[in-house]
Amino acid sequence: MQLACEGNLPDVTTLKINEMFETIQGEGAHTGIPSVFVRLQGCPVGCPWCDTKHTWTLDEAFLTTADQVLNKSEENECFFSVEDDELQTLFEQQGYVARHVVLTGGEPCMYDLRRLTKVLHDAGFSTQIETSGTYEVLCDPRSWVTVSPKVNMKGGLAVLDSALNRANEIKHPVAMQRHIDELDALLARCESLQGVEVCLQPISQQDRATALAVQTCIARNWRLSLQTHKYIGIE
Ligand code: SF4
Repeated sequence: MQLACEGNLPDVTTLKINEMFETIQGEGAHTGIPSVFVRLQGCPVGCPWCDTKHTWTLDEAFLTTADQVLNKSEENECFFSVEDDELQTLFEQQGYVARHVVLTGGEPCMYDLRRLTKVLHDAGFSTQIETSGTYEVLCDPRSWVTVSPKVNMKGGLAVLDSALNRANEIKHPVAMQRHIDELDALLARCESLQGVEVCLQPISQQDRATALAVQTCIARNWRLSLQTHKYIGIE
């Protein structure tokens, strides 16, 4: 069977970008790596604790220029459009030096990322996609895919088997035992967990959530993911 990511490349995809900046990846298996973050606009998943609700809307009323978005002084719904093959030029114009690109959102897998990720890998970048697992992941086979599964959220979208099986890393937010039970049910749907990093990430740095995550990671030989950027106060 040919996977969607192995077919012919699609035509150029227009990306809608809410934020783009260079920082250090703060969480998961790539913690500590200098990265260009590209925050794509649009998400219908509806997590109540979402800290990027300003990315949810795709209302064209918020469409503006790249300059305005790249120079935002505060988070807001404004986004700009760019064709995926122009993104690297934009990185150069911004003077970015990081060679790791994190495609996040919003829900980045609402977009076909095959051409973008191929072009970036061919140019010597590594790429990482951070997704809720509710859309098919269309990307280069070399991309690192982090699925942070969002189960039973308001938007009513299901976590897809195809996303779970494409994951290099499954990073689950936890605050209580119910979340670990949910993760067990998701992992049972994976064809193989060989080589897949399973990480628990305490929700909102709560002490009880952190204690539960630490205890479970030790017992299950999973990895603890702390949102280190929040501890050190960077974006
Ligand atoms: S999937 Fe991500 S962006 Fe979308 S609502 Fe949930 S936390 Fe927010």
